[in-house]
Amino acid sequence: MPKDYYKILGVAENATDAELKKAYRALAKKYHPDHNQGDKSAEERFKEISEAYDVLSDKQKRAQYDQMRKYGAGGFSGFRPGGQAGGAQGFNMPGGMNFSFEDLGGFGSLGDIFSSLFGDRVNFGSHRTRRRPSGPRKGNDLSIKLDISFAEMANGVTKTVRLRRDANCERCSGTGAEPGVGKTVCPQCGGTGMISQTQGAFSVSRPCPRCLGRGEIVSKPCSACGGTGRQKVSQKIKIKIPTGIEDGASLRLRNLGQPGVNGGPNGDLIVKVHVKPDRFFKRVGNDIICSVPLALKQAVNGTKIKVRTVNGHAQLKIPPLTTDGMKFKLKGLGIGKDGTKGNQYVVVKIKLPDNPTPEEKELIDKLQSTEKVHS
Ligand SMILES: [Zn+2]
Ligand SMILES: [Zn+2]
Repeated sequence: MPKDYYKILGVAENATDAELKKAYRALAKKYHPDHNQGDKSAEERFKEISEAYDVLSDKQKRAQYDQMRKYGAGGFSGFRPGGQAGGAQGFNMPGGMNFSFEDLGGFGSLGDIFSSLFGDRVNFGSHRTRRRPSGPRKGNDLSIKLDISFAEMANGVTKTVRLRRDANCERCSGTGAEPGVGKTVCPQCGGTGMISQTQGAFSVSRPCPRCLGRGEIVSKPCSACGGTGRQKVSQKIKIKIPTGIEDGASLRLRNLGQPGVNGGPNGDLIVKVHVKPDRFFKRVGNDIICSVPLALKQAVNGTKIKVRTVNGHAQLKIPPLTTDGMKFKLKGLGIGKDGTKGNQYVVVKIKLPDNPTPEEKELIDKLQSTEKVHS
């Protein structure tokens, strides 16, 4: 068990600075070597008292000491002052490691101390490394954006894109080792492939930066990839966009992401599809809405017009006395999705002249009289 500095000074664990100082002064006076000439035990006691006060009177050291006591029950068996050189107090740790309080200044937290002592492998409480990080792991996903036109959305399309990504190096099959040359256990993670960072009682594990999670490092790096195990590849891929895809929807293409580690599968490629807005077509569900201008004379007398569709053009018959805003259906020329097909709707916009001639006035009157009939 750790040395009990509170007991040594004869104070409570919540003792104030003033109480500490008072207790220390009294004891130091009593056991000071000057007053106890030749008394070895008094000298030892005096050293102990000084050591205890040195730790407890420093806010930071005291906090660290308190935490250490808390964890000490489970983790520390050998706790005794050491590091006599330079007069620094320290702890001898299991496994022959030693650190002194003088070293604590540079550490941010007790967790840092533990991780440095135990080679980044300490997890407190129930936070233990469960998975085997040196086992196969799936590669990261990649994502790209893809623009398609409205017509491509409506009809479906297969796009060819050039994808630049990492792949396992061909020469070393992703191991990073020169073929035929052995590997050694990574000294940074001790072969686990993971290092954990501890914050108080919690720990966060992440892949070891030295060995990139493989747990081992190569004795001689691969001459093709320099030991990374990766190489850049540029490949053409075909992406089939389903008909009627919504703007902003994503597709997941298996196996086209970053390469897996330790023989794990590749990540996926996420394709985010952006449907470019169209000036003519608007989408409402699976229907397509568009509006076409119509001359006054065409509206009154009726006509046939050519209307753009997502598959080319369609003929539309405009009956006589068509009024502004009338809607015509082009059946089955909408968006096909989930086994159904939408329609295209054509809304007519009649262009009225600013200064109508007598003849045009007559035409306008005709339209208005029909509107009255309809209403
Ligand atoms: Zn490592
Ligand atoms: Zn290689």
